[in-house]
Amino acid sequence: MISFDNTEIAFAGKSDSDLQWSYRLFKMIGMPWLVKFGKVATNVAFAIHLPIKGLIKKTIFKHFCGGENIDDCKGKIEELGRFKIGTILDYSVEGKTTEGDLDRTRDEIIASIATAKNNKNIPFAVFKVTGVAQTSILRKANGGAEDLSEADRKELAVSMQRVDAICKAAYEADVPVFIDAEDSWFQDTIDRMVNAMMSKYNKEKAVVFNTLQMYRHDRLAFLKKTHLEAVAGQYFVGIKMVRGAYMEKEREAAAKDGYPSPIHATKEDTDRDYDQGLAYIVEHIEQFALCAGTHNEISSLRLVELMAEKGLDPTDPRLFFAQLLGMSDHISYNVAHEGYNVAKYVPYGPVKEVMPYLLRRAEENTSVAGQMGRELSLIVKEKKRRKALK
Ligand SMILES: Cc1cc2nc3c(=O)[nH]c(=O)nc-3n(C[C@H](O)[C@H](O)[C@H](O)COP(=O)(O)OP(=O)(O)OC[C@H]3O[C@@H](n4cnc5c(N)ncnc54)[C@H](O)[C@@H]3O)c2cc1C
Repeated sequence: MISFDNTEIAFAGKSDSDLQWSYRLFKMIGMPWLVKFGKVATNVAFAIHLPIKGLIKKTIFKHFCGGENIDDCKGKIEELGRFKIGTILDYSVEGKTTEGDLDRTRDEIIASIATAKNNKNIPFAVFKVTGVAQTSILRKANGGAEDLSEADRKELAVSMQRVDAICKAAYEADVPVFIDAEDSWFQDTIDRMVNAMMSKYNKEKAVVFNTLQMYRHDRLAFLKKTHLEAVAGQYFVGIKMVRGAYMEKEREAAAKDGYPSPIHATKEDTDRDYDQGLAYIVEHIEQFALCAGTHNEISSLRLVELMAEKGLDPTDPRLFFAQLLGMSDHISYNVAHEGYNVAKYVPYGPVKEVMPYLLRRAEENTSVAGQMGRELSLIVKEKKRRKALK
């Protein structure tokens, strides 16, 4: 049976000095006051043009990102490839609003697809619809497009064209593409777009993947509905399954605007739906392709078990595990070592523009009530193991 305790395999790609670096970094981002201070300080420093880019680039950026552009990421792609781990190039620039910027983001994603073409080390591409569409129109259309003005309909059509251009490029290059899940006030629009793309490009196999956030209590039902629609429309369903990244924001918005929260009441409910979602897809794998995007050990093991129960080979191209660069290497490296398909999101983009992404990673790894974070405790374990050998 697969084990995630093997820190020797988990950190095989890290030299002693790399490990020491990671240790220092996670020690720092484990301190809540420092992360809070860092968040304010970096915003101020960028605003008044202090030269902090170099410092960020050598520390937190180096740990969680592949580089500032696709070329910079090539070393990381090869390094992961040596351990049979694929790269998913994730252009992580957020908050762009002009039409020109949205076009440029579309072109950047199409460039990442071109880089992935015929490259076995890059099994997927990925993008966020909010990177190529005005968020205002995604929001307005969330309840349906019927009541939109003529101008809004045009705007929505332009967004859809960008999404279609990316999916078409993915189809032609034979590079499957993930479409990330976002806030619930955009997600219905995104779901409709993705379903249209799946029915168009997934006739032979899953090329376009939607993302399901299982912290939402309606997602299991949505999964089943998506399946039935695909059976009727005779196409395949690609699903990246995650728990969901925006829980606090969702709950706050629901409380503020007085509607029922779309998020499960407890972590246990989210965990249960996640594992049931995995089981549903593996049971109906003829119609699906699945990527389990998770740092949760139990869910990762559950997928291994489900595959064995169904008699599926670890290398079955329809099934993947995925984690973020710089996190949960104990899952990625051990699962890859056992021959399963694994990939890491490798975020990239100009340092200043990926700051929101980096701050989310820092906050995620900040210790709760003095507890050592998951990443830090693994690093400490590996440091002790290596020391004992000397
Ligand atoms: C490859 C990859 C791709 C991703 N893509 C996306 C994406 O497109 N969209 C997106 O939103 N996120 C995405 N994420 C992030 C993901 O949704 C989670 O935030 C993150 O992975 C932590 O969840 P976990 O499964 O690793 O496990 P855990 O660490 O076990 O679970 C933490 C998660 O459980 C849920 N949770 C925690 N407390 C509660 C509670 N009290 N009640 C209900 N639920 C609770 C939350 O979703 C929380 O993030 C991605 C993650 C990975 C690894």
